[in-house]
Amino acid sequence: MGQRAEQIFHGQPAAGTMAKGPLHVLPGTRQETAAPAAGEDLAAALERARSELSRLIGNEKGAAGDILEFQLALLDDEDFLAPVIKRMAAGEPWRKAWREMLEEEIATYRDSGDEYLAARANDLRDLQMRVLGTDQDMSGIGRGAIVVAADLTPSRFLQISRLGVSGIALSGGSATGHVAILARERGINMIVGLKTAVETLPDGEQALIDAKNGLLIVSPSARTLAQGAERMAHEEKERKAAQAMAKKPAMTADGEPVRVLLNAANPDDLEEISPEICDGIGLTRTEFLFSDGLLPDEETQTRVYERILAWARGKPVTIRTLDAGGDKPIAGVTADGERNPFLGLRGLRLSLRKRALFRRQLRALLRAAIHGELKIMVPMVSVPEEMVQARAQLEKARQELEQRNVPYGDVSFGMMVEVPAAALMAECFDADFYSIGSNDLIQYTLAAERGNPEVSWLADGCNGAVMELIARTVRAGRRLGREVSVCGALASEPAHAACLLDAGVRVFSVAPAMAGPVKLAISRHAMAKGSKNK
Ligand code: PEP
Ligand code: MG
Repeated sequence: MGQRAEQIFHGQPAAGTMAKGPLHVLPGTRQETAAPAAGEDLAAALERARSELSRLIGNEKGAAGDILEFQLALLDDEDFLAPVIKRMAAGEPWRKAWREMLEEEIATYRDSGDEYLAARANDLRDLQMRVLGTDQDMSGIGRGAIVVAADLTPSRFLQISRLGVSGIALSGGSATGHVAILARERGINMIVGLKTAVETLPDGEQALIDAKNGLLIVSPSARTLAQGAERMAHEEKERKAAQAMAKKPAMTADGEPVRVLLNAANPDDLEEISPEICDGIGLTRTEFLFSDGLLPDEETQTRVYERILAWARGKPVTIRTLDAGGDKPIAGVTADGERNPFLGLRGLRLSLRKRALFRRQLRALLRAAIHGELKIMVPMVSVPEEMVQARAQLEKARQELEQRNVPYGDVSFGMMVEVPAAALMAECFDADFYSIGSNDLIQYTLAAERGNPEVSWLADGCNGAVMELIARTVRAGRRLGREVSVCGALASEPAHAACLLDAGVRVFSVAPAMAGPVKLAISRHAMAKGSKNK
């Protein structure tokens, strides 16, 4: 039998690097499993789905746990279930009522034009199938396989990710969707948007997944395999070099220290990370701490912030106040129907409208500050007057605690620089420190919405205009003796470390998995500069 010719399929990079393995084509057809009992009614199906989800949640933390919790919460949400009950009361069989109601919800989420909600459509599809007892056949996926599928729901992804697969290639999906986020979190090689009908791919055939370049190479030639083996050996060496750097301090060629902090979203996520790999926490996104909409009470928040400070063991911890709105809508908090939410009531603008909610968070932060070095940071500041108002709220929160005889600690109070106006006029703001949010700074500087793949090519972090705004903020910080860090995704990209160092940045706040690779890039830049200076 002659060998197949090599075929290369293009998609988009979503997570990871490169691996080799046999293809496992997941059938697109969904088949009934034996799980649902004959004659099962809606109540029994919901109960089965609840217990399956509770089992899956198990010890899941972070984004994976949140997704499953979201699905579990919907099963007990009377408003969510009401249309199904209504259809059943009108005589429709429950399966039809459930399928069609979910279909309508999924379409609403998918067509909302909102990246966040569109990603949640996949979670609803997952729930729809789970309650109906329909499933994708995952029997026979072996260790080391490259799984190809039209699309995956988050819980199917989680099941597959535990099987030790080499990678996953999807014809659907998006690099900003939940499944891709989970893949990055778990270090799974993944491509999305693969341009082929996956069912036509040869099951069991050898393949290479080149997730960095978004390629699936089926039946690779001997030459491609040799090149792939070289690349994989190189990636492994890089991984080890980065791991070796993770606990070492970073510095420039002149011996100037470069501090590397971590971005955090949840104290649970920090538990598995050693504080030794960082100089503290540079950004805590508190909107992700609470998935149920409204911020919890002061006590609950205080406990969460104390846990983060305890983890840091005396290193500084920056916690950002609620940054709801834009790409982070929170039901019941953010405004509905804004024509352009990115230019509307978001971040500090919203907090200054919802002052009771804002002060509740400030009080919890002040209370937690007794237990460590806490820096409070406010997001989306555009004009100096907003900092004046924010400080007045901080003062009022202190007074409220004093009236209640509740002890509190010292904090510094800084701002994010995410709007070009703030970068241009940084000196005019009453801030103890600045942290550059490159994700938003890039989108507002280049008028290219973050998360819109059609314009993502414009959003180059090393764009001269963006770098000028960053360098300008750094200069303002130096003149005033105030720290300037970068906490947007730009800081987590080793390839951009040199650009940021040349712009004067000496404090990076990065995704935990990127601390080692960024420190490695900083040390290589220092070595390159050092040898040039000789
Ligand atoms: C940023 O804008 O770069 C940032 C860190 O904030 P977020 O991504 O949460 O908007
Ligand atoms: Mg931002």
